[in-house]
Amino acid sequence: MNVVLLGPPGAGKGTLASRLVEEFGFVHISTGDILREEVAKGSELGRLAKGYMERGELVPDEVILGMVRERVGDSKDCFLFDGFPRTISQAEGLREIVPIHLVLYLKIPEEEVVRRLSARRVCRKCGANYNLITNPPKVPGVCDKCGGELYQRPDDREEVIRKRFRVYLEQSAPLIDYYRKQGILREIDASRSPDEVFSQAAEAIRG
Ligand code: AMP
Repeated sequence: MNVVLLGPPGAGKGTLASRLVEEFGFVHISTGDILREEVAKGSELGRLAKGYMERGELVPDEVILGMVRERVGDSKDCFLFDGFPRTISQAEGLREIVPIHLVLYLKIPEEEVVRRLSARRVCRKCGANYNLITNPPKVPGVCDKCGGELYQRPDDREEVIRKRFRVYLEQSAPLIDYYRKQGILREIDASRSPDEVFSQAAEAIRG
């Protein structure tokens, strides 16, 4: 079974993805994580993507589809796509790569997204996520898991968050109807706690 996590930035896709990977053994494909790794490496792809990411805009579809095609290859694993597809054209491209069986739509209001993302901090070393309000690290600025330094993503500043939300509404929200018409969309209330979001998602996957 291949699953897509759909929803605005800050809906909790990353947090839910790691729980679903643990529970069901999916191979996790987060296009945002892959792009951030490429930026950190300073690769050609990273240099191309950096400007779009810092402005809160989408990286071109062909670049993203090429990246996903390469990761999936001819593997028979079950994939969990996180932050992808983000446009109808990416969804059309994905159909040619693997079939999608379930789309979990994480629904959440804009103000909650801004509140969550401005408080988000990420570990530079292991990528673990914290939230200064709901899930703070034990020692400020230090990762509980690996002792790495915590930082604020450059695109988690309020004006960029609002831009990312607008981009989501314009370019990604049409995917909700696209997948609803295919009869594979399940709506999840993402303003609930991480445990509640996980149990709604797990129930949808178990069918
Ligand atoms: P994320 O971590 O999913 O919020 O992604 C961070 C940034 O990476 C986005 O704001 C985009 O600039 C870029 N990005 C990630 N995934 C995609 C995608 N599927 N299509 C286009 N751009 C993407």
